[in-house]
Amino acid sequence: MAIRGIFSWPEAEKVNAQLFRATVHAFVAHILEKHKNPDDINEALHKIGRNMGKMLFVTYLDQLSTIARDVKELSGMNNMGFKFFFGKTFDEIILEESDTNITIKLRIEDCPICRDIVLPRRDVFFCEPMAGVFEWIGEQLADYMGVKSIRCRETRCRARGDKFCEFSFFIEKL
Ligand SMILES: [Zn+2]
Repeated sequence: MAIRGIFSWPEAEKVNAQLFRATVHAFVAHILEKHKNPDDINEALHKIGRNMGKMLFVTYLDQLSTIARDVKELSGMNNMGFKFFFGKTFDEIILEESDTNITIKLRIEDCPICRDIVLPRRDVFFCEPMAGVFEWIGEQLADYMGVKSIRCRETRCRARGDKFCEFSFFIEKL
């Protein structure tokens, strides 16, 4: 795959869902001790995810036969990537488009990342590291897909009492 040539990270080792979960749990516990402000907590979790994204990306590409050529394919690619790591796909994928922006929402009820976790507060998004992973990978493909910018945040989380976890992509068109 030609696009691989531009990436120079070391070959990422395969991770599995349990390792990802364990890592996220450890980070959340650590960050909750370290920070009090919810924005700082969520931002720290997001940044951790972006760094994880760097490591995961090579493996992710290896396992996929196609990479996203446009934003519509990105949700399918993220769904396949999620399935590769966690053995599950999203329940619902919502795409909204205007002249200047595209929003994609990936929703999952039985989220494998925060399953069985109940946070005592509603202002922390437990699965935010996953949003960081999605964002970093999306950014690498932004030029290729012909979009200006991509952000991703976890906008609902089971661990804070929502019915499902939701990862929202905010995409600016060129
Ligand atoms: Zn969640």
